[in-house]
Amino acid sequence: MNNSRRDLRSRTQKRADIAADTRPRTTLSLYRYVHIDDTQEFQDRLYTAWADFGCLGRIYVASEGINAQMSVPTECWETFNSWVQSQPELQGVPYKLAVDEGSISSFFKLSIKIKDKIVADGLDDGSFDVTNTGDYLTAAEMNAYVDDPEAIVVDMRNNYESEVGHFTGAITPNVVTFRDELKKTPELLTVHKNKKIALYCTGGIRCEKASAWLKHNGFKHVRHLQGGIIDYAHQVQAQGLENKFRGKNFVFDERLGERVGNEVIATCHLCRKEPSDTHYHCQNQICYTLFIGCDSCVEKKNGYCSFMCRQIDYLPLAHKKKLAKYFNEYVRKRKPFQKTRLSTKY
Ligand SMILES: [Zn+2]
Ligand SMILES: [Zn+2]
Repeated sequence: MNNSRRDLRSRTQKRADIAADTRPRTTLSLYRYVHIDDTQEFQDRLYTAWADFGCLGRIYVASEGINAQMSVPTECWETFNSWVQSQPELQGVPYKLAVDEGSISSFFKLSIKIKDKIVADGLDDGSFDVTNTGDYLTAAEMNAYVDDPEAIVVDMRNNYESEVGHFTGAITPNVVTFRDELKKTPELLTVHKNKKIALYCTGGIRCEKASAWLKHNGFKHVRHLQGGIIDYAHQVQAQGLENKFRGKNFVFDERLGERVGNEVIATCHLCRKEPSDTHYHCQNQICYTLFIGCDSCVEKKNGYCSFMCRQIDYLPLAHKKKLAKYFNEYVRKRKPFQKTRLSTKY
């Protein structure tokens, strides 16, 4: 982004500014694999228009396409939509609208970054045909796969996402990054090479690459859920289908999740007793660890992941700055949170 365009307000200021802007917002995500010649020009064009409409969000632009998670003031929706549809790179792009807007604003600023790839997948795109993606599955078809004992349903997201919600009976690999998952899946799923496989992720973008990758690795019948869990939830509602997604859909914005199924399938990481599927970032900005907390633990620890983090946060700023350098070392040494067990049977 041009330096002149960088948003220099502090996080607190951004939160205050957005809190003062009480206009109702529509949260959405969109992505498209499309060749973009001049990423700098595209970024400038997006920024100029979207800042003007009052959009907020996190947007990645690469020569392979665009991946955006954002919110638009609802009163500007028509203007936003007609602008998007008038751009050659974006014409006809489907939107995935939030299932549940939640009570807090999904984003606090507008950030548009140029990246090498729109999803960090760690794959060498030159080594296989990325356009040879699997066929799509509708929500109704997905339900049939979930019910079919001969079909394999695979969660292409990370463990902290599937921990709070996943399809009944899905394989939920215990990985922290998509890159890791792609590296491991062909081998882990090798016994299912000739079976029907259904992949799913949050909004569908990860499965585009993952389905092509599995096909390249010799998997015969790979399909993926179109529009991901977000669109599944909409289709279930609109068509009155049975909801086979249990729990919450983790989302990468300030809301950290939207409820799809009513069941709470995870447990508080701090007490390991209370059922909870609410994610928090530790209040200590140096730590910022993502954890699941129950109401009572979060209140007891004032929103920190540990008493240590709370103590550190109360230190004078100069001390904190010095500590920040060593903090990673401490955190890495600390025993990790006991997470809710996932079904990782292959
Ligand atoms: Zn607890
Ligand atoms: Zn912490």
